[in-house]
Amino acid sequence: MFMTITTTGSAEKPATDLGFLLHKHPQKAQAFSTSHGTAHVLYPEATPERCTAALLLEVDPVALVRRGQGRGRSGAPDAALAQYVNDRPYAASSLFAVALGAVFRSALNARCTARPELPQQARPLRVEIPALPARGGPELVRRLFGPLGWSAVEVTPVPLDTRFPQWGDSRYVRLVLEGELRLADALRQLYVLLPVLDDSKHYWVAPDEVDKLLRAGDGWLAGHPEHGLITSRYLARSKRLTQDALERLELVRLAESDGSVVEELDNAATETEEEAADAAERSVPLARQRRAAIVDALRAAGAHRVLDLGCGQGQLIHDLLRDASFTEIVGVDVSVRALTIAARRLRLERMGERQSARVRLTQGSLAYTDKRLTGYDAAVLSEVIEHLDLPRLPALEYAVFGSARPGTVLVTTPNVEYNVRWETLPAGQVRHTDHRFEWTRAEFRDWAHRTAERHGYGVAFTPVGPQDPEVGPPTQMAVFTLNTVPDSGPGTESGAYGSGSAPKEGTAA
Ligand code: SAH
Repeated sequence: MFMTITTTGSAEKPATDLGFLLHKHPQKAQAFSTSHGTAHVLYPEATPERCTAALLLEVDPVALVRRGQGRGRSGAPDAALAQYVNDRPYAASSLFAVALGAVFRSALNARCTARPELPQQARPLRVEIPALPARGGPELVRRLFGPLGWSAVEVTPVPLDTRFPQWGDSRYVRLVLEGELRLADALRQLYVLLPVLDDSKHYWVAPDEVDKLLRAGDGWLAGHPEHGLITSRYLARSKRLTQDALERLELVRLAESDGSVVEELDNAATETEEEAADAAERSVPLARQRRAAIVDALRAAGAHRVLDLGCGQGQLIHDLLRDASFTEIVGVDVSVRALTIAARRLRLERMGERQSARVRLTQGSLAYTDKRLTGYDAAVLSEVIEHLDLPRLPALEYAVFGSARPGTVLVTTPNVEYNVRWETLPAGQVRHTDHRFEWTRAEFRDWAHRTAERHGYGVAFTPVGPQDPEVGPPTQMAVFTLNTVPDSGPGTESGAYGSGSAPKEGTAA
């Protein structure tokens, strides 16, 4: 049983931080004895640019039989030999999930005393499991991991025997997950979904399993379209426990929908957090002024089919729906939680057919090209770019301007010069803890001009909010318009930015 977790980084944000996150030093190979064998943690590579941690579980089949756990999925006594000769030692399964929970306990709980901020940050992750038992087949694997915030879920069936292709596929798949997530979230998903896919829980399912499931499922399970299947399989199909868990998940959903649970969104800069203070100072909150400016610019561009990239909780979509000239509105965000809240706020489920045909919410990362985003009139990036680490920005640029290539692109971002005018903001501080950078007017213009030139767009600038004679407006907006003169197109640029767009990594060591 084997799994690797890879992350990439830079000198400022080194990939080797993975060692802090996992509480395992990258220079050491360590072994831990678990109830079913020995778990090894080692790092095949550890540089600031790229770091891979491997978890290897050596299952002891004899120990399993002694503990009465070596049997197959049915629980019926197997033929004597099958107790010793089975897939347990080789395939990632529920045993592996137990080892994961034991060896990476702090990481699962998003705890890191040395660097408390680290576990809260999403980072580029690549998880590879070469042999994952997948009862339900590759399709089910995709359905389970698809809605969880990964930008790529690659599932490849493993053939029974490469020498005899006519025998077909085994019940194992090779799973590769790629995306920008918090490590704790990735580990919690695996902790729950590996046993679900294995569907042969090796241990007696005790009532506290429901608690474990709800804890590991916090923030993603209640809203998962397959929460019923996940719950039932995780609890080894125990009717009583499943019903108990489903009732509790329903309570989570209800609590979320009547707003009695504080929504601390991982990433989303919300009106409450970021702009409520401003709202007190001004009669029209800045966020509303920004949305009005965006809607005006979209109308001026004659856009009908619009992408709201990094749509957050859907406030702009709400405004766009009020204007019938926007015939198709697609909200994209990397955060499933933000999308869940957006769907609820927009009352998508209760919307009439005509209205709901106009709007779609979809999960995706703007750091990767996405064919579904091509062919639109306009794309909006409202207060999104500053949430990306600067080194990731070229990837977003390429995904939006190089690949999706809408006729108009609107980008808004804070003007850092204006920060001295916020009474509540200490000097030198950015407006929101998740902002990775904030630009001056000159910096923003410089970036916008370079981006426009590279991808064949023209660009103009519009201030948003009250203009200050010295420091300018609080928000800056760039309106990019695709040049209609036929040029060489994006093809010539893909080489230059290819490396920054969708890093296709080779097979991990
Ligand atoms: N556009 C909204 C929300 C801005 S907050 C508004 O103007 O109010 C930034 C949003 O960008 C968050 O919802 C965050 O989840 C999303 N985001 C950050 N990085 C992203 C990425 N790489 N891909 C897609 N969305 C991303």
